[in-house]
Amino acid sequence: MGQFPSSLLRLVVGLVVILLSSAWAAPRLQRNALQVYFVDVEGGQATLFVTPAYQSFLIDTGWPGYEGRDAERIVAAAKRAGISQIDYVLITHFHRDHVGGVPQLTARIPVGAFIDHGVNRETTDAATNEVWGAYQKVLATGKFGHIVAKPGDTLPVRGMKVTVISSDGDLIGPPLPGAGQGNARCKDAEQYPADKTENARSLGTLISFGKLRLLDLGDLTHDQEVKLMCPVNKLGKVDIYIVSHHGSSQSGSPALVHGIAPRVAIMDNGARKGGNPPSWEVIAKSPNLEDLWQLHYSEEGGGARNVADEFIANPNGPDAGNYLQLTARPDGSFAVFNSRTKRTKEYPAR
Ligand SMILES: [Zn+2]
Repeated sequence: MGQFPSSLLRLVVGLVVILLSSAWAAPRLQRNALQVYFVDVEGGQATLFVTPAYQSFLIDTGWPGYEGRDAERIVAAAKRAGISQIDYVLITHFHRDHVGGVPQLTARIPVGAFIDHGVNRETTDAATNEVWGAYQKVLATGKFGHIVAKPGDTLPVRGMKVTVISSDGDLIGPPLPGAGQGNARCKDAEQYPADKTENARSLGTLISFGKLRLLDLGDLTHDQEVKLMCPVNKLGKVDIYIVSHHGSSQSGSPALVHGIAPRVAIMDNGARKGGNPPSWEVIAKSPNLEDLWQLHYSEEGGGARNVADEFIANPNGPDAGNYLQLTARPDGSFAVFNSRTKRTKEYPAR
């Protein structure tokens, strides 16, 4: 008699735990929603978009080496999203933390086509030459499509609109539809020296899904940002800003960040990469900002600048590869899920 209630209790507790853990495991994949996975590649970029019709689009592939760590994290995100191939892989530029993971990724999951800005323009840098060479080998197999994108192009991804803003140092000419307003932050826009690296060549895109607008400019630098945003704001306002250059102080000028005035910013920094205090301050003062989310605690930012723990996927300590997931809905509402806390924050449509 004494045993029965305790085993019954254990059963009930077990069932409750299973129910709760499945409810918290990940946001239910919602019909009609776009899912965006911010994969932790330790201060590089890998952002996976999956549309309601399971069309998929990956921006960048993380680092080479580490026994395929970044490619494996991307494949894990793809599995969670219910896809078994990636239709398009966009390479913003040819630095190691963006293109480096291509050979390991293509060894693990089928890819339809690559999209990039053309050729490596930083041939004086050995590390860049090396990953560029490895990427060229992958393209030379002839197994993949290859698109070189120009500003103003609409990419062939179905189920969301991907407009090219910047590519190989060139920028869109006329403002995007509905944009072209003045930008109050141009008055005090600093004059930035021209960046000579691959960063300034970044293939940047504006992604629209119903009413929602999301901006990713890769590692585009200050000098290019100011040309996009001054004297008029060619981009208009956005809902979600994927923080340029992992929050490096070479990018993320007030003219850009305050001009696009995002509701939410998501920073793909590492513990010791990006997350530089000056660019953080700009985000923190951005006029419409509701939250900044970080893939990592930034050691350089310290207690003064890192956001509250619940908005950080990987806090200080051993890395666990936790991710952030955005669920975007056509009515303009969205939600951000932190895979570490298993909590989701909702942002109602405006
Ligand atoms: Zn980078």
